[in-house]
Amino acid sequence: MDENCIFCKIIRGDFNTEFVYENEHLVVFNDINPKAPVHMLVVPRLHVPSLNELDDKELLGELMLGVKEAAKRAGLKSYRTQINTGKEAGQEVFHLHIHVLGK
Ligand code: AMP
Repeated sequence: MDENCIFCKIIRGDFNTEFVYENEHLVVFNDINPKAPVHMLVVPRLHVPSLNELDDKELLGELMLGVKEAAKRAGLKSYRTQINTGKEAGQEVFHLHIHVLGK
């Protein structure tokens, strides 16, 4: 938990954000500024600033499974995923997240 991290606060329930899906490893919620009709974020409960700081193979795998589960629950058969890593690549929130876009 990072007290200054917006996604940590969302995970803690500070904003009563509705989760599309959640399990012990991750939560999935809708992006506040959607770039597609369906735009979800798959977010590990653990505060990790970016993909560069995550080497845990099990958690990396869980995140990929979370992408598939979120897509399934949103009724998506086709979807695009994106991970922005670092400021120059457009990362704005420094808590690892995977964008899932579809429809
Ligand atoms: P990135 O540029 O990869 O860091 O993406 C951060 C994403 O988080 C952007 O698409 C934002 O619209 C989204 N975002 C920021 N704050 C919130 C929030 N409070 N709830 C949901 N999505 C958010």
